[in-house]
Amino acid sequence: DAAMYQAKRAGKNCWRVYRPELDESAHMLTQLGWNEKIQAALDEDRLVLHFQGIHAVDTRSICHYEALVRMVDPEGNLLLPGNFIPAAERTGRIVDIDRWVIRAAIRKLAEQPALPPIAINVSARSFDDPDLSRTIRSTLEEFAVTPARLMIELTETAALANIRDSESFIRDLRQLGCTVCLDDFGVGFSSFAYLKHLSANVLKIDGMFVRNLANSHEDQVFVRAIVEVARGLGKKTVAEFVGDAATLALVAELGVDYAQGYFLSFPIAEIS
Ligand code: C2E
Ligand code: MG
Ligand code: MG
Repeated sequence: DAAMYQAKRAGKNCWRVYRPELDESAHMLTQLGWNEKIQAALDEDRLVLHFQGIHAVDTRSICHYEALVRMVDPEGNLLLPGNFIPAAERTGRIVDIDRWVIRAAIRKLAEQPALPPIAINVSARSFDDPDLSRTIRSTLEEFAVTPARLMIELTETAALANIRDSESFIRDLRQLGCTVCLDDFGVGFSSFAYLKHLSANVLKIDGMFVRNLANSHEDQVFVRAIVEVARGLGKKTVAEFVGDAATLALVAELGVDYAQGYFLSFPIAEIS
């Protein structure tokens, strides 16, 4: 029955073999499942933040941290965002997760005044909400945290998908005094063209260009170009997914300012 509906949706006059991953009724069910799991995790306070260092390339010291959300399931297992963020983005629950993360990160900054800045990830679904920058502002005020200690990462593809909202969101955040970083930079097809409109302070070069940097001439060419454009526009660069010494050496040679990756440090639950 599901195969027949798949064939009809594919334009009729064709056939389909039943494939569970194409079965939208099953898909709907797992999605509903996630919706409830996310709600329960929020209600029962089972989201946690881990923190990974962003290191200066020259001294290797940590300049700031990136907060990465995890869900603790009822059995006590830690679920990585890849398990629940895509579902949350489809259902819209990501907005509640992002708000939880904003509050948790700002509370952490308030509790530990000596911590370096913390960067949080905000999804596209959240920043098309015009109230979000106001929420960030009032939460910073509530906890008496200086805005300069909070950084916001937006994925480049999300920013490009909604250029008007991103422009005003980035402008509001910068006026407030937060630093804005374009995450996963370079995967968007017309990244450079849109940079004129996005006043972000930092470009985080997508791991896709970094993972294999030491063995790929093409990736080296791309990273060099991104660094040059960033410099010309007065922006800093971060390389993510720095996995070994050779990659770090190359990233340094290519003039990248900061590096993040398992070679330097793993995400951890407690920082000081
Ligand atoms: P991202 O923002 O690009 O974060 C970097 C991801 O790469 C993290 O995965 C980090 O653990 C991983 N990583 C760092 N260094 C290395 C390395 O050397 N090798 C490899 N293989 N991986 C490395 P994680 O924590 O699983 O997060 C995945 C994605 O989920 C994030 O990508 C971000 O897009 C999203 N995410 C995480 N936390 C949040 C959040 O609080 N809110 C939202 N909206 N999205 C989040
Ligand atoms: Mg990020
Ligand atoms: Mg990234």
